[in-house]
Amino acid sequence: MRFQKGHTVSEEVRAKIRKANTGRTASPETKAKLSAAHKGRVVSAATRAKLSALGKQRCQAGIPMPSTKGRQRTLEHSQRLSLSKTDIEEGLWRLHAWREYQFRRDNYTCRRCKKPNLSGQDCQADHILPRRYFPNMIYHLGNGQTLCRRCHNAKTRREQDIWK
Ligand SMILES: [Zn+2]
Repeated sequence: MRFQKGHTVSEEVRAKIRKANTGRTASPETKAKLSAAHKGRVVSAATRAKLSALGKQRCQAGIPMPSTKGRQRTLEHSQRLSLSKTDIEEGLWRLHAWREYQFRRDNYTCRRCKKPNLSGQDCQADHILPRRYFPNMIYHLGNGQTLCRRCHNAKTRREQDIWK
């Protein structure tokens, strides 16, 4: 489709484009190009407000923003969300405590394949309801289980199929 200046795109077409682009990730070259094209661009206050409102809406509905799709919120993301250092530390500490709780309750045993004495990279705490879609269940003690790395990876893959 050619880009026409001043041409208004109908809601139907927009929906189609949206559908086609859902779940698409740009290749590294495309990303670099986009990044170069957007460098130095000034986003108007109105646009900023719109993006911010959209973010809040999605957040409340538990839908992740496209930019964080499939990724965990890292420290850097939190900083971009302008959370204070204390908020971040508090969050990380709570998640750490949540994990410890899961491991101790399940006695370091994979709940799926029953592999015992898990440790290190093989000992993982899984969010039963994925935290991407149930952000308000992140620290819920009942929403976790100890899984070995294999079982955790398998569950994550299945989730990607189910929830995409
Ligand atoms: Zn397992």
